[in-house]
Amino acid sequence: MPILFGGSFDPIHIGHILIARDSLEILTEDEVVFIPASRAPLKDSHGASAEDRLKMVEIATEREEGFGISDVEIRRGGTSYTVDTLRWFVQERGERPYLLLGSDSVLRLHLWKEPGEVVKLSKLAIVGRGYGPESVGAYLRERFPHLREGEDWVFLETRRVDVSATEIRERLAKGLSVYCMVPDKVLEYIRERRLYNGRDADRSRLR
Ligand code: ATP
Repeated sequence: MPILFGGSFDPIHIGHILIARDSLEILTEDEVVFIPASRAPLKDSHGASAEDRLKMVEIATEREEGFGISDVEIRRGGTSYTVDTLRWFVQERGERPYLLLGSDSVLRLHLWKEPGEVVKLSKLAIVGRGYGPESVGAYLRERFPHLREGEDWVFLETRRVDVSATEIRERLAKGLSVYCMVPDKVLEYIRERRLYNGRDADRSRLR
């Protein structure tokens, strides 16, 4: 079954890309679908427009086998709720997908819209980010006692990548390099579009 990977991708970075690849391999699935949010409900604002975030995801994933994109949330517009996306997906495809998310996101699941439906419609594929399997298991047992490990959620031992979009935006705003934190072509796009107040922290300083 496909692995759905929602996020604001503001911008997409190497952490997203590596956990997507690792999860495909660990779960032995064929497709991970990146789904950029139109507006993420638990974030104050986004640094780049939905169109630019979608474009960056396209640039970062277009050549990688097994990576797909859905613009369903951007087309729907407004605030993007995962439960709506899952309902749409299950109706379209008739199967229960994996939902890929970092453990930091899982520990906020009770704040999501209709979290009970989210865990019913999908199987959580959780990767470590700040919190390990014990914390995740304890949280899920307390908040969603009916969920069964293995059936309803799995913790994937992917590599840990200590990079966040927040750090990248902050570094760009300060004129610091984000070389290798985002794919080169995404960085080119950020520069061309002058996203994140990216004064050029690049080679031009060295020339
Ligand atoms: P921001 O810093 O703006 O909050 P972010 O780096 O967390 O952004 P999102 O697009 O919000 O990126 O993340 C989408 C999903 O990917 C979330 O479930 C998040 O936990 C997960 N994720 C993002 N970066 C990593 C990472 N480095 N390692 C593991 N999971 C990650």
